[in-house]
Amino acid sequence: MKTGLHPEYYRAKVICACGETFETGSTKETIRVEICSKCHPFFTGKQKFVDTGGRVERFKRKYGM
Ligand SMILES: [Zn+2]
Repeated sequence: MKTGLHPEYYRAKVICACGETFETGSTKETIRVEICSKCHPFFTGKQKFVDTGGRVERFKRKYGM
């Protein structure tokens, strides 16, 4: 939807690798990202230790933490 008033500024559709899409203002029509606020632990506040398999514990032991 172009109004002609701001031809170089779009409501950009952001597409994340996780499948999440959202809109933001941008000079590009489409933006692809690998991580977004929906799937990034930093934003969700959830820690995802899906594939660590105890590596964190071993790391702590190794470095005496
Ligand atoms: Zn995502």
